[in-house]
Amino acid sequence: MHVETDVLIIGSGGAGMYAAIEAARGGASVFLLDRSLIGRGGATVMAQMTVAVALGAQTPDHWSHHLADTIQAGRGLTDERLARLLCEDGPDCIREMDAWGVGWARRDGHITQAFAPGHDRPRCAYVDFLNTGPAVSKTLRTVVNRTNGIHKAGDLLVVDLVRQKGEGDGEVTGAVALHLATGAPVTIAAKATIVAAGGLTRLYRRNSASANMGGDGYALALRAGAPLIDMEFVQFFPIGHLAPRLIGMDPIMWDPFRYKLGGRLLNADREEFTGRYGTREDGKYVITRDLATYAIAKEVEAGRGSPHGGAYLSFEHCSAQALREAFGPVIDRLAANDIDLTKMPVEVAPIAHYHMGGVTADARMQTEVPGLLVAGEVVGGANGANRLSGNAITEALTFGRRAGRTAEARARDGKQGFAVADAGAALDLLTADGSAAINTAAMVQTLQATMADDVGPFRTKEKLARALGIIGDLTAALGERPVGDGGRFDMQRIDWFDLRNMLLVARIVAQAALRRTESRGAHQREDFPGMLPEWQVNQVVRLRDGEVALASAPVVAEVAAQ
Ligand SMILES: Cc1cc2nc3c(=O)[nH]c(=O)nc-3n(C[C@H](O)[C@H](O)[C@H](O)COP(=O)(O)OP(=O)(O)OC[C@H]3O[C@@H](n4cnc5c(N)ncnc54)[C@H](O)[C@@H]3O)c2cc1C
Repeated sequence: MHVETDVLIIGSGGAGMYAAIEAARGGASVFLLDRSLIGRGGATVMAQMTVAVALGAQTPDHWSHHLADTIQAGRGLTDERLARLLCEDGPDCIREMDAWGVGWARRDGHITQAFAPGHDRPRCAYVDFLNTGPAVSKTLRTVVNRTNGIHKAGDLLVVDLVRQKGEGDGEVTGAVALHLATGAPVTIAAKATIVAAGGLTRLYRRNSASANMGGDGYALALRAGAPLIDMEFVQFFPIGHLAPRLIGMDPIMWDPFRYKLGGRLLNADREEFTGRYGTREDGKYVITRDLATYAIAKEVEAGRGSPHGGAYLSFEHCSAQALREAFGPVIDRLAANDIDLTKMPVEVAPIAHYHMGGVTADARMQTEVPGLLVAGEVVGGANGANRLSGNAITEALTFGRRAGRTAEARARDGKQGFAVADAGAALDLLTADGSAAINTAAMVQTLQATMADDVGPFRTKEKLARALGIIGDLTAALGERPVGDGGRFDMQRIDWFDLRNMLLVARIVAQAALRRTESRGAHQREDFPGMLPEWQVNQVVRLRDGEVALASAPVVAEVAAQ
């Protein structure tokens, strides 16, 4: 099957859907595809908490204050052009979502804004009782459905972008995808292509992600010639649910209740311990994510962890009434899991959650490769070495909108440059008859364990070298030809394509972490504990003849009008 469109959008999370709406209302024809169901596949629909935005609805605020906090959290590595876009365009997107009926929580007629660590004032909007991401996704799906010019297709796994060969300037002219339900190859010709395929946290054993977040977007862009930056900065969410067993709930669900009630992080001796690592909480919630991850890991290491290897989170000091008010119907879902917060703490531990690194882009979301744009979590740099709570959904919405606008403008002036011959190598992979006997599911597990144990929040030269060895072995075992027969929902073949991307991206994360011989934000080297001025640089990754090449580059620190 072959499809022709003005704008191709790969991934239908918040970024992809906002990009589709913006490009279509500018007049472009849009093809919005996803490997999963449209608007239900990635992180956006799972995000249950808050959206950081300087609305000034309850407390006076301005985007420049939000920007200052974002830069501060980024520990010297924030791309200020991108961060400014996120902070400056945020209020407009959030108001537009409001007009579309998302249902932001309100008090006295104003959108309610909660306080979250790292923000200098209450700045986080939400849809109450763990509904933020589902409501954002549903609203965008509704607007996508009623916007003329958007064609949608689920079950399409993009395996490679197509670049013009020969005369052209190497521009991206579309993509090749696998139709999961039939195994058929699909080619898509586009005047502009936006990669909005989300993050990479599926690389880790314990993660908050959907199974679709194995870093496809980074691998697609890299193989098409676009550089990545800051790939060593994987954010671990400190209080991912650990025990007791909790079914049908998001593992990072505890955060909004910490915003509302504080809550106490306790070690095995039932003492609050974050003060030992520089931030006293005293029942309040003030510690940033990287410091909390560090504090919990160090308590566990010192033998003061909770029974399952984390910390206790306790709301036992709160009355049943206060808990009911804060948790609403969630308290009943907890009761169904035999969790009574008036009588017991839960156990929490760090969990891979978000990726700060990604594809480099300018403030129009254009990459170095003509015709290739990016949006959302797949973009690197806006959050530097550490992301503030609530910035990721704002990033998805604002970057998506901007990418849609740029793509529409490019499509208006552009030509269709797709040639089937340029798609040859990817098509060849899709139609391969793979017979090798490898256990792809076991390989995914080995990779996830390796990344968790050796490329987790705390790294050393030895651990990283060991991880690179295992990743090398797995890559050799994977081979260069897909396995499976390529029929309908052939999980072995899907795993093969996933592993092809996961192994490439894992190698880059580990190599970048090995090269950065300091500790900064989410990247902590136990053998290089301090933050060093000479490392206040981004690491840029390129693929040259199949080899990963890393170099340092100055941070973009330019807050000029955009
Ligand atoms: C559990 C959880 C809770 C979170 N809570 C918050 C929060 O409260 N506040 C906040 O600011 N941030 C939060 N985040 C982070 C935030 O949700 C994400 O950073 C953001 O939603 C990313 O949006 P996106 O559109 O870039 O990607 P996603 O929403 O992840 O969408 C990417 C889409 O691309 C598709 N895709 C991937 N690869 C391919 C391929 N090869 N071919 C075709 N399609 C592909 C996926 O199926 C998916 O649908 C949370 C994340 C998680 C996982």
